[in-house]
Amino acid sequence: MAEAALVVEDLHKRFGELEVLKGVSVKAETGDVIAMIGSSGSGKSTLLRCINLLETPDAGKVYVNGELIRMRQHKGRAEPEDHKQVDRIRASLGMVFQSFNLWSHMTVLENVIEAPVHVLKIPKAEAIARAEALLAKVGIADKRNHYPSHLSGGQQQRAAIARALAMEPKVMLFDEPTSALDPELVGEVLRVMRQLAEEGRTMMVVTHEMGFAREVANNVIFLHQGRVEEQGNPKEVFANPSSERLRQFLTTSH
Ligand code: ADP
Ligand code: MG
Repeated sequence: MAEAALVVEDLHKRFGELEVLKGVSVKAETGDVIAMIGSSGSGKSTLLRCINLLETPDAGKVYVNGELIRMRQHKGRAEPEDHKQVDRIRASLGMVFQSFNLWSHMTVLENVIEAPVHVLKIPKAEAIARAEALLAKVGIADKRNHYPSHLSGGQQQRAAIARALAMEPKVMLFDEPTSALDPELVGEVLRVMRQLAEEGRTMMVVTHEMGFAREVANNVIFLHQGRVEEQGNPKEVFANPSSERLRQFLTTSH
């Protein structure tokens, strides 16, 4: 059997006195689309940041395509053992944030080719050809020579998705990718994400878009105070939540 694309086992993370993740386990098989929902402060971003090692988990295991990210204890704190491994794992995880995080001094095309050329060492002409195909895929081929500030929020976010895809990631991680957008621009980004899901990409998406979670995800995870409170098939879970907290969350969020 093929390795799961992403496995998180009993992850713990605290910031000082605040225990943010209290033993979270998540598994994504290749092609899975996991929607992660939960109130503000429940630990959703921290979980994604621990997966791609923007934060170091205190305890627990993360496997990407079967490869365990090795940790060690150093001066009473957990830290990654091998920075080369961290770089490699991170390059295989595409991350899209709420704030678009494009490099403002580079054009859209330059943003998309930057990491493929400098990290993957792909020849520039090839990187450009691939970037153009990706920009066409997300519907902004005509913006290739524009700077991010000249794009709408929805176009910037689609450029950020193209930039992440250019690294040919094994798993795409999205942290509230539409939360900063004007309402009329949300749909164009969700459409691109839906298309990626239909292509069979493995995705973990923190979102408040319950329609997207219901229709596109094959698994929804409800995080509550640093624990997985409920998970399952989104259509079933939304129609018939077994947790009272999820029931409340669903009625107050939509
Ligand atoms: P969510 O994304 O679900 O809204 P977060 O993972 O961002 O939640 O945050 C969970 C909790 O951890 C919050 O109380 C937040 O203030 C706290 N937190 C997140 N990052 C840090 C940090 N770097 N230092 C201290 N506290 C943090
Ligand atoms: Mg968050």
